[in-house]
Amino acid sequence: MSYPELNVPIRILLGPGPSMVHPRVLRSMATPLIGHLDPAFFQLMGEVQGLLRYTFKTTNLFTMALAGTGSAGMEASLANFVEPGDPVLICVNGYFSERMYEMAKRYGADVKRLEKPWGEIFSPDEVEKAVKEHRPKLVAIVHAETSTGALQPLEGLADVVHQHDALLLVDAVTSLGGTRLLVDEWDLDIVYSATQKALNAPPGLAPITLSERAVEVLKARKTPVTTWYLDLQLIGQYWGIERAYHHTAPISMIYALREALRLVEEEGLERRWRRHERAAQTLWDGLEALGLELYIPPEYRLPTLTTVKVPPDVNERMVRRHLLEDYNVEIAGGLGALKGRVWRIGLMGFSARKENVLMLLAALEDILKRK
Ligand SMILES: *Cc1c(COP(=O)(O)O)cnc(C)c1O
Repeated sequence: MSYPELNVPIRILLGPGPSMVHPRVLRSMATPLIGHLDPAFFQLMGEVQGLLRYTFKTTNLFTMALAGTGSAGMEASLANFVEPGDPVLICVNGYFSERMYEMAKRYGADVKRLEKPWGEIFSPDEVEKAVKEHRPKLVAIVHAETSTGALQPLEGLADVVHQHDALLLVDAVTSLGGTRLLVDEWDLDIVYSATQKALNAPPGLAPITLSERAVEVLKARKTPVTTWYLDLQLIGQYWGIERAYHHTAPISMIYALREALRLVEEEGLERRWRRHERAAQTLWDGLEALGLELYIPPEYRLPTLTTVKVPPDVNERMVRRHLLEDYNVEIAGGLGALKGRVWRIGLMGFSARKENVLMLLAALEDILKRK
């Protein structure tokens, strides 16, 4: 059988991820492989850890990148911190917190839900009330809910969780590198992310960081973690001073993450967050000028992912198809409870540039006029 050489369309990726990969990151991936136990590779791993600490705003020793996508970070966080029967509280207000709930159940936790309608956020008081009632060992929350476009404030949450001897687990998949995230200042215990959203690298790694408090809890486990591949203590021995083989690291992805994080450091986190905010503001203003309505109120609207209501007389899938076919622009439809009701527009990492926003707005105006 003979197929032609790989030839994919050049797309402008403005969906919920993957986002566009910076050319420097793409080039880094063409670097020849070295072994995963080569001292030169250990050097790169150390550099990636340093750059991740910068990006997470943490001094946590346990800071590394797991092989796998964002869901591997989520799975590792739940599998390692849940033992059968442990009370766990999940703050559920969207698709990804629902996934956390599902995973926690599979690992045998006694899972309680603190629920809000999709698109709303939790106050520290609401979390505290639920923590007092359920006495969980772990409280899990999504920082940037990619299914709704809501940004969950995290200031003050750790205090109420820690007062009751629980750990705070945060999904930062769509916030790391795209919007303010201060792991140490906000005293977060377990935080994971992914490479293909605001870090402008391909999907394939899940950065994760653990507070000392979390590491102590991990060490005190009574039962072995039921997933061998995502056992954080075993993986920690590869990334730590032991450098003990666990599995073959995805070498080219580590190259990519290193270059992506170098770009973060070069730009500076504050400037990067502001770039995302400016691009998002331009998008929001432009969408409203087109007569469209945004789903999330401005007070807690997420800059990296915007949800727009689909007008009642518009075929939402047709609009996305025209965007893709006529303009090479990818955006997404709604997930779960918001299926068919919103479009989801991502401005993440290298995608978060004004020229992309202006192009999308012009294309949308043209397509909506045609209908
Ligand atoms: C994308 C996403 C995930 C899942 O990540 P994958 O890389 O698709 O496995 C988890 N949480 C949030 C908030 C996300 O946006």
